[in-house]
This record gives sequence, C-alpha cells and structure tokens, in this order.
Amino acid sequence: MFTCTGYAAEAATAPLAPFTFERRDPGPMDVRIDILYCGVCHSDLHQARNEWHNTLYPCVPGHEIVGRVTAVGETVTRFRVGDLAGVGCMVDSCRECASCQEGLEQYCERGFVGTYNGEDRQGGGHTFGGYSRAVVVDQAFVLKVPENLDLAAVAPLLCAGITTYSPLRHWKVGPGQRVGIVGLGGLGHMAVKFARAFGAHVVLFTTSASKVEDALRLGAHEVVLSRDEAAMAREANSFDFILDAVAAQHDINAYLGLLKRDGTLVQVGAPEQPLPVAVFSLIFKRRSFAGSLIGGIAETQEMLDFCGEHGITSDIEMIRMDEINAAYERMIRSDVKYRFVIDMATLPEAA
Ligand code: NAP
Ligand code: ZN
Ligand code: ZN
Repeated sequence: MFTCTGYAAEAATAPLAPFTFERRDPGPMDVRIDILYCGVCHSDLHQARNEWHNTLYPCVPGHEIVGRVTAVGETVTRFRVGDLAGVGCMVDSCRECASCQEGLEQYCERGFVGTYNGEDRQGGGHTFGGYSRAVVVDQAFVLKVPENLDLAAVAPLLCAGITTYSPLRHWKVGPGQRVGIVGLGGLGHMAVKFARAFGAHVVLFTTSASKVEDALRLGAHEVVLSRDEAAMAREANSFDFILDAVAAQHDINAYLGLLKRDGTLVQVGAPEQPLPVAVFSLIFKRRSFAGSLIGGIAETQEMLDFCGEHGITSDIEMIRMDEINAAYERMIRSDVKYRFVIDMATLPEAA
C-alpha cells in the first residue's frame, strides 16, 4: 500500500477538501499512473452531491485521467515506465459475460467497477477517482494516449469524448444527415466536434446566447436558441438524429418533436429527476428515444486514436485543485468553456 493525497467530499453537502487515503501497490497486471491532469465531468458533481442517491463517502471524484506510468507489474506487457496513459470511467468488469466478451464492458452484466464510487473488488471498500496524486489500474482498463496532442486537453476525451463518440458511431451518424446536439457543455462540445468530423450537418441547441459564436467555431453549421419558441418550431420534423447532453431538467418532448419519421433521440445527459415523455411524440412518427452509457475500452482506444489522427481535443479551462468547488458552482450555471481540467501539480503534498 502507499499513501495517496486527493480531494474528497465527505458528505452530500460538504465541499471537496484535501483527503489522504491508501492505494494498493501495483499487482502483476497493474499499472501505476502519476496523474498530471484530470477533467471535471458534471457526473463528478452529481456524484459528490449524491444527486443519484448512491454515493459512497468519502467520495474522490474524477474519471478523465491522464498521466505518466511510474510502475508496472511483472506481467504487464502493454505499458512501460515513462509512457503516457489514460483512465476513463471504468477500472474493471467481470470480463466473462456477453457484454464484456463483446467489448462492451460498460454494460457488464455483473456491473462494471467505476473509477470512483465502485466496489473495489481487490482492496475492499470503494474506489477513489482521479482528483488524486496517482492511480493503480489493471492494464486491461488503461488507454494509450496519442503523443501529438495537448495532454491536458486530452483528459476530457476519457469521458466526454467517448460518451459522445460512441452513440454517434452506434447510430451511424454521417454525411447526408441532419444532426442535433443539445447543450454546449463538456459532452455537447465534443459531440459537435465529432458529428462534424463524421460529415453530418450539425445543429447546436443551447440555452446560452453567449455560446453561439463558439458553437460555430467548434463546428456547428447552425445554432438554435432553445428558449426561442418560434425558432424551435421552425426545426420541427427535420432531424435524423439528436444527442441530448443536458445535465438538468428540461422538456424532452420539445426535442422529440424535431425528429423526422423514424428519427432517434439519444439521451446521454443524466439529470437527477425523470424526464417525462409524451408518448404521442413517439407514436405518430415511429420515433425512438434511447440512451447510451460511455463506451467500451476498445472503442475508447479507437476514439483516442481518431482524435490523434484528426487533431481533436477538448476546449479546456485549467484550474487549480483548490478551485474545484468554485468550478462546480460555475458548471451549475452553465458557465463552462467547455471543460474544466485540474492541473494535478497544484494538489497539496499532504492533506
Ligand atoms: P456540463 O458541462 O455541465 O454541460 C451541461 C450543459 O447542459 C450546460 O452547459 C448547458 O448548455 C446545458 N444545460 C444546463 N442546464 C440546463 C437547463 N436547465 N436546460 C437546458 N440546458 C441546460 O455537463 P457535462 O459534463 O457535459 O454532462 C452532461 C450530462 O451528461 C450530465 O448529466 C452528466 O452526468 C451526464 N453524463 C452522462 C454520461 C453517460 O455515459 N451517459 C457520461 C458522462 C456524463 P447550454 O448552455 O448550451 O444550454
Ligand atoms: Zn463523466
Ligand atoms: Zn461482464
């Protein structure tokens, strides 16, 4: 075991604060990564504040991890000391069920082990995430990071990147399609970049008039202010596919009505409360309302390689570790352009 420092929430209403805990030394299959940067996902906030009603405390969030390998177990073949490496939302799964066999570990029938708030099947207790000095992970769940990209701007690809890449690929978004992205936050801005890179006609829906120019710069062909009812009405029945990445309550029926016959709306945003669906918006045009959870390890590697080839990264705002609570408040106000990333060099040596 070694002593690790990090930042944790001790309760739903407590701010994140310095925290010291133990991690296992690398076993034969493990990679130890000293964390350089960690992205700040809205899921971190949902989890730290128990908005999904399943948080185990103390909670060390963070699942957009990049860093350098500082130790490897004796049977590790894929990584060497000094390599760059990444860890996303999962650190283990059963590896035997039908989903794991298909490379869809996020849908593991026994439940994947989350990078934080997961059941630590090796050490007992629960897992601690990337708002910390170092992490020890089985090599099967460690990603290779493209060397040609800005490392800090790669970190958000490990969750925001794969969570948007995977459904766009699964539903075969491409040329000739009109594609809507709802919400220009961490996930939404990556969805705009990927949908554009895949050749679709991209329309961004936002509640923030201040984000219109950025959306066009990031790759949207058009931007619609979703609180403008006349503008929304003009978009009715015109989309093949919509990806909704909104973190809060909103009217989902307003978007279902924008789909063409047989169109699909995929929900990746995970607000605390249910989103009521008016069934007639589905029935009359055979529309689908679907969901999607992050992406498997193989697809995450495919996404990182795609980003390396196409020069795609996240647009980030770097913060110090002690600015995390202020960053959460800004995220709630939709004041994020477009992902906060923590510079782990600012983590205190001891809690
Ligand atoms: P984020 O950076 O905070 O972005 C969310 C965006 O939603 C905001 O920037 C804002 O965009 C829009 N929004 C916020 N409040 C709104 C409201 N009341 N009405 C309409 N739009 C609103 O969050 P994120 O990190 O991208 O995460 C988004 C959601 O996805 C979270 O719920 C997160 O937990 C979830 N998530 C799911 C998965 C998965 O596997 N399915 C993975 C990661 C995250 P505008 O300013 O443009 O309106
Ligand atoms: Zn996330
Ligand atoms: Zn499994």
